[in-house]
Amino acid sequence: MSFCECGCGKETNGRRLLNGHLKFLVEKLKLVKKLCACGCGNEVKPNLKKGIVPDFIHGHNKPMLNKHHSEETKNKISRREKELFNR
Ligand SMILES: [Zn+2]
Ligand SMILES: [Zn+2]
Repeated sequence: MSFCECGCGKETNGRRLLNGHLKFLVEKLKLVKKLCACGCGNEVKPNLKKGIVPDFIHGHNKPMLNKHHSEETKNKISRREKELFNR
């Protein structure tokens, strides 16, 4: 048995929400106060399209090592774009 996450208490046959109930869930999520799990102390904004409140603010769930790595990758990509552009 699974119940609609909007809190209406109706059974959903394994789905998270009944049709059209996302808007009720969104109203609930807007009231949720949840702090970012990385410890920065900022409030996480609910993802209203998905109907969830993420644990992290967008981009905060990546360790520093990954951040460094992705910046390097980004540089490589932009360099390649420049090469293509100059041709
Ligand atoms: Zn519902
Ligand atoms: Zn954070």
